[in-house]
Amino acid sequence: MQLVRQKEECARRRKNQARALVAALSVAAIASGCASGGGSAKPAHGQEPLNAPPARALDSYAQKLAATQVARTMAAKRWGLAKTPLPAPPPPAVKPRITTRKGFEVKGQANLPPVFTTIPTKEKVVFLTIDDGAEKDPALLRMMSELRLPYTAFLSDYLVNEDYTYFKKMQDRGVTLNNHTLNHRYMPGLSYEGQRREICGMQDVIKKHYGKRPELFRPPYGNYNRDTLRAAKSCGIKAVPLWASEAFADHMEWREWDRDLHPGDIILTHFRGREDWKGTMPDMVRKVMKTVTDKGYAVARLEDYL
Ligand SMILES: [Zn+2]
Repeated sequence: MQLVRQKEECARRRKNQARALVAALSVAAIASGCASGGGSAKPAHGQEPLNAPPARALDSYAQKLAATQVARTMAAKRWGLAKTPLPAPPPPAVKPRITTRKGFEVKGQANLPPVFTTIPTKEKVVFLTIDDGAEKDPALLRMMSELRLPYTAFLSDYLVNEDYTYFKKMQDRGVTLNNHTLNHRYMPGLSYEGQRREICGMQDVIKKHYGKRPELFRPPYGNYNRDTLRAAKSCGIKAVPLWASEAFADHMEWREWDRDLHPGDIILTHFRGREDWKGTMPDMVRKVMKTVTDKGYAVARLEDYL
């Protein structure tokens, strides 16, 4: 009985804490929403326009944001994250124009899908992408959903075909499944036709099992030539995102000389387990999120920017 009463007390206290957090976050969100209004001329007393409907809309948006952040805070504690992941800003109203990174072009690039490592944005957001498909850890699906962390998968059929249902569950949780070829070959070593078979073949596999042909393609190891991009385009690919940094279970690796994150950076990681690196998928998420959050970044949905 004593234990039951204690439990009830704890539950009540937790509920109150959550309510206080919602209130605090609502106020913060509304305040920042109002601050961005930026009108300079102040109307005379009694002449302020009544903005009731937009204010109410803002209020409900702020409440939704606050509720998400409360859920995230609790999930972050449950999953042992050092800090609560930061909330991402709303998706851009106008999608940025994506161009190929300087030095990454092939001949005739203007008519081919762009190759890039960072999305042009001023927002402090980064994007998580997970490749291949070897490790199929159910904990990852739960963890990312509970933390409300978006990510994008790039799948290779020789690994995914061990269990298509795992990635169906991922798709059902809002993750976009993209093309990483049938057999994970070094693409420049294949003929144009060979590359087409690898890319178009994976388009067919994803369409068959998941109902949709991907628009994004990532070449294995990040290696490609002009034929790769021509083949990808002919298979219906619109863009070729590479990565600016790579997350492991116990460390980060950086492409840029400053060994840092930048607004819009795409982070690569892999579906791997203890046999491939020093930890589990949840260990990798804890590690990468510590870096991302400590540096003041939020994780946003790649598809919202493409
Ligand atoms: Zn790969």
